[in-house]
Amino acid sequence: PLGEDACQATYKILIIGDASVGKTALLRTLISEPFQEKTRPTVALDFVRKSFEVDGAFVQLHLWDTAGQERFHSITKWHYRGTKGIMVVYDITDRETFHHLSYWIDSVNKDVAHINNRYEAVPLVIVGNKVDLCRDRRVKTREGQKLADKHMAFGFFETSAKTGENVIDAFQKLAYHVTDIC
Ligand code: GDP
Ligand code: MG
Repeated sequence: PLGEDACQATYKILIIGDASVGKTALLRTLISEPFQEKTRPTVALDFVRKSFEVDGAFVQLHLWDTAGQERFHSITKWHYRGTKGIMVVYDITDRETFHHLSYWIDSVNKDVAHINNRYEAVPLVIVGNKVDLCRDRRVKTREGQKLADKHMAFGFFETSAKTGENVIDAFQKLAYHVTDIC
């Protein structure tokens, strides 16, 4: 049986989307840190590592939390170097964060392709977060799915960093699709 060290492959993933959609909360939930109701915007770029099993092998995702820069829409291209996948997050209770998704996807795809010198779309998973607040829902599931289809995303999930719903599944999907060789 394959152990945790059987595969050394690590894959860099960027988590992007507007401020306050829950990017940091999703990462915290993924690594089993307690959910925080009130958080301050992070100022620096941070990352977590997490191993996933894909077809019997362990692969490690190196998940970069883009924090703070989103306010200025100025993630520098340096951050994109080596990126193998993207998770784009919106807040189902905030339509504006949904409307900004295409902007995020197009600009990041362009820059990642440019810096990696590979002009193919980067594997993408779209996440509508805060589904526990569905009484305040402003974006229909169907709309999220439609956008995911339009951008040929490998996955679309509605998640809650608060309850944990679908969080592992969303990252697992990315792990699956970034690892064509391992
Ligand atoms: P970021 O700017 O995208 O990193 O967003 P944060 O992770 O800092 O979250 C912003 C705010 O939304 C915080 O007050 C979180 O507690 C809250 N939040 C994040 N995810 C969820 C969620 O799934 N459900 C609820 N109810 N609140 C959330
Ligand atoms: Mg954050």
